[in-house]
Amino acid sequence: MNGGQIGNVDLVKQLNGAAVYRLIDQQGPISRIQIADVSQLAPASVTKITRQLLEKGLIKEVAQQASTGGRRAISLTTEVQPFHSIAVRLGRDYIQISLYDLGAKELATVSHELVYKNQNELVTGLLGHLKDFIQANEPIIQQLIAIGIVLPGLVNPETGVVEYMPNTDIDKLALSDIITEEFKLACFVGNDVRGMALAEHYFGESQDCQDSILVSVHRGTGAGIIVNGQVFLGHNRNVGEIGHIQIDPLGEQCQCGNFGCLETVAANPAIVAHVKKLMAQGYDSSLNTLDDVTITDVCQHAVNGDELSKQSLVRVGNQLGKAIAMTINLFNPQKVIIAGDITIAQDIVFPAIRRNVENQSLTTFHTGLPIVASTIDSQPTMGAFSMIKRAMLNGVLLQKLLEE
Ligand SMILES: [Zn+2]
Repeated sequence: MNGGQIGNVDLVKQLNGAAVYRLIDQQGPISRIQIADVSQLAPASVTKITRQLLEKGLIKEVAQQASTGGRRAISLTTEVQPFHSIAVRLGRDYIQISLYDLGAKELATVSHELVYKNQNELVTGLLGHLKDFIQANEPIIQQLIAIGIVLPGLVNPETGVVEYMPNTDIDKLALSDIITEEFKLACFVGNDVRGMALAEHYFGESQDCQDSILVSVHRGTGAGIIVNGQVFLGHNRNVGEIGHIQIDPLGEQCQCGNFGCLETVAANPAIVAHVKKLMAQGYDSSLNTLDDVTITDVCQHAVNGDELSKQSLVRVGNQLGKAIAMTINLFNPQKVIIAGDITIAQDIVFPAIRRNVENQSLTTFHTGLPIVASTIDSQPTMGAFSMIKRAMLNGVLLQKLLEE
C-alpha cells in the first residue's frame, strides 16, 4: 500500500485489471465476451488482461457447454490454491496468525500471548511471531503474496500507518512499510472491527447485501459499516465508534473519559462486572458455584435459565438495541450482524435488541430487517484476510502481482 502517487495510465491499467479479475472472481466461470459486455471494456483489452492473468496463473480456462448446444465455449475462473497470504489479528494482549489461500481457506493458525507497552515492543513482538510462523509453515507455504494485519486502533488504509491504539503510545507507526521492508511482501493494515465487517461482506452473513452493519461486542464495543459494498470511513477514518454513544448520562465512567458510554454496559468486561456486583449484593444465581465468572459462563447460565444472568443479558440487549436503532436511522442497512460471545445467548439478547430497534428506529427501516449472529467470529483472522482480498479486488495487490 506504500508508494504514494501513481500516474493516470497506471491507475487506468490497475482499475481495468481489477474490473476483469473481479468479474471472474465473482461471476466465474465467465467467458471473455461476457466480461467485455459487463465491464464495457474493449474485447481487445479483455483479451490482453486475461492473457496477463493466465500467464501469472491467477485465472484458468475451463470448457463450458454453451447453453445453445453446439460449440463449447471457453470460460474463465480464478485460481486460488497456489496463492497464499498471512493474516494477523493483533489484540491488546494476544496475536493470532493464520495462513490462507486466495479462496479464503485457512491452512494453518496459531495464537500467542503478546503483551506490549509501547510501539517498539509491539513491532519486535509482531516481527518475531511472523518469522516463527513462516518458518514453521515453510513446508506448506506456496507463493506468498501478502500480509494483512488488523488491530484495535486507527489506521490510514492508504499508507498503512497506525495513528492511534488504545492503551499503547503510538507515534505514526508505519507498520505496512516495516513489514514490507522485512518480508519483501505487500502489507495491508486495517482496524479489526471494520476488517470483520468487510469479512462478513466477502465471506459471511452480509454477502447477499451491499449495506450492512456489524456490531462487535468483545473486550470493547465497536461497529463496522458497509455502504455500497465498501467499508464506510469518515474523513479521519474513524467511523463506527458505537461503543462511545452515551446511553446513560449517570452511568459508569468510560476509558474514553465520558460517562455512560455503551461500552460501559455492553462489552464483555462490563457484563461480567455487572453480574459480579449483583452476586456480591446477595442476589441468587447458579453462577455462585463458580470461582471466577466469565462471559461464556454468564451466557450459558442464562441459556440454562439462571434469572440473574438472563436479566443481565436482557439489559445488555436493551442498551445495544438503542444504539443500533440510531445507526439504523442513520444508515438504513439491509442487515445487522452481531458478533461476540453474547451470541451464545442470542435467544435472550436478540429479542431485547429487536424490541428496542422497533421502538426507536423508523418503521420502514426496521421492517423485515434481519438481525443475525456472525458465523465467522470464530475465525478472528478473517478480517485481516479480507484486507488482502480487497487489495486483489480493487487492483492494488493484483497489479503488483502482474508486474512481478
Ligand atoms: Zn466512551
